[in-house]
Amino acid sequence: MQIISYLVYLVSSVLFIFGIKKLSSPKTARQGNALASIGMLLAIIVTLFDQHVLTYQYIIIGLVVGGLIGTLMATKVQMTGMPQMVGVLNGFGGGASTLVALSEYYRIINTGGLFTVDTLITIVLSILIGSVTFTGSFIAFGKLQGFVTGKVVKYPGQNAINVLLILAIIAGGVMIVMYPLNTDFLLAIVGISLVLGVLVVLPIGGADMPVAVSLLNSYSGIAASATGFVLSNNMLIIAGALVGASGIILTLIMCRGMNRSLMNVLLGGWEDAGATTGTGGSEVKGQVKSVDPEEAAMIFDSAQNVVIVPGYGMAVAQAQHAVRDLTNALEAKNINVRFAIHPVAGRMPGHMNVLLAEAQVSYDKLFALEDINDDFNNVDVAFIVGANDVVNPAARHDQSSPIYGMPILNVDYAKTVIMNKRSMNVGYAGISNELFFYPNTLMYFGDAKDAITKLVNEIKEL
Ligand code: NDP
Repeated sequence: MQIISYLVYLVSSVLFIFGIKKLSSPKTARQGNALASIGMLLAIIVTLFDQHVLTYQYIIIGLVVGGLIGTLMATKVQMTGMPQMVGVLNGFGGGASTLVALSEYYRIINTGGLFTVDTLITIVLSILIGSVTFTGSFIAFGKLQGFVTGKVVKYPGQNAINVLLILAIIAGGVMIVMYPLNTDFLLAIVGISLVLGVLVVLPIGGADMPVAVSLLNSYSGIAASATGFVLSNNMLIIAGALVGASGIILTLIMCRGMNRSLMNVLLGGWEDAGATTGTGGSEVKGQVKSVDPEEAAMIFDSAQNVVIVPGYGMAVAQAQHAVRDLTNALEAKNINVRFAIHPVAGRMPGHMNVLLAEAQVSYDKLFALEDINDDFNNVDVAFIVGANDVVNPAARHDQSSPIYGMPILNVDYAKTVIMNKRSMNVGYAGISNELFFYPNTLMYFGDAKDAITKLVNEIKEL
């Protein structure tokens, strides 16, 4: 049985790895998800058969209750609420690692078993990382949901307090290795780690939360991997390590796309981020020209090359279907339509790709920043749908701007820029956008879904 379970674990691990590989392209992402799910199912089944399960009663109750809650959450959550949901799920992962490590500790004590130093170290690590992930993820959820202040929270002695807590945990760990049967030390580590999770995530501004959530996702994987060592379960070690590594890679990709260092995010970098008004960087003033649906339709009608740049506003308005209709209407007039996707457009990696795929926009129309940015000189109309920071030219030249250095889409090089948003309000970074005032920019105000639907109707009538 042992050999069979090892073999199945090996197959599951391979399925996880291929699953993750396939997630890297929207074309194969669903397949990747399915592969990884099969791997997980196999791993669960073989674990249930192999380990010394005393009673299935609680497992079945857990499966039913957890399955129901998970299904409800996944079907009810809006696409814009996805970062919060991922945050909560990471928290549960961390909490589970802590509980498993604690119960293994008590099991060994109650059965009069002997602790080895490495078991104790992995128990402490699993509890530390799991607990930090648990409370940190719920603070992240609260910030994204508006239950906890989204502001950058700073207080005197912040870093010193965190360092003291970490030192206390290390001291607790040493004491446990010396006195393994004294449960007080382990419980103290649980308590301090839970507090540390709150204090580490609280300072981070609400707008930086998606990056923090991605990092916490990585932590939940590392915690699971540590728990795998506690239980001597190879599958958990491998799966946890995969989550840990991919989470950290994703975090770094997000930071690079925003031209920020991870430290800058963790220490609460963008104080104004997430505000609805404000300037940041240099004050921008000038004349704004706006168009109505009819005027916009005429400009589109005389174009040959159109590039659509979706952003967070498209997600908020759920305008992806209207955007697809616009694409069809333009293509019916032999106008070439492409999409330019910025790596951090929206609020999570791949946000725009997922929405456009849902609306059946063909993948071969989607171009990454580096594949389309040199071509904007040949574009007649760059149509921006609810994007703001990812097209803000201040990133190129305004050294006082918080987004200075972030690669942006060169929409301003197009002959005409039509920018759809509801107002002159700022985006995620809390800074105004000089593009609104450029001579080749026309503002097309309105909720993306309504505005684009009207535009499509006008185009069809021409
Ligand atoms: P932004 O947040 O810069 O701007 C979105 C714009 O959408 C707003 O200015 C808003 O203007 C407009 N908007 C909101 N609702 C609607 C609506 N119903 N209809 C039309 N427009 C609407 O979005 P971008 O996508 O350009 O940039 C993403 C930002 O998020 C970047 O700063 C990035 O660094 C950050 N980020 C991205 C992450 C990712 O993984 N993708 C993770 C973390 C951060 P108005 O109110 O006037 O309508």
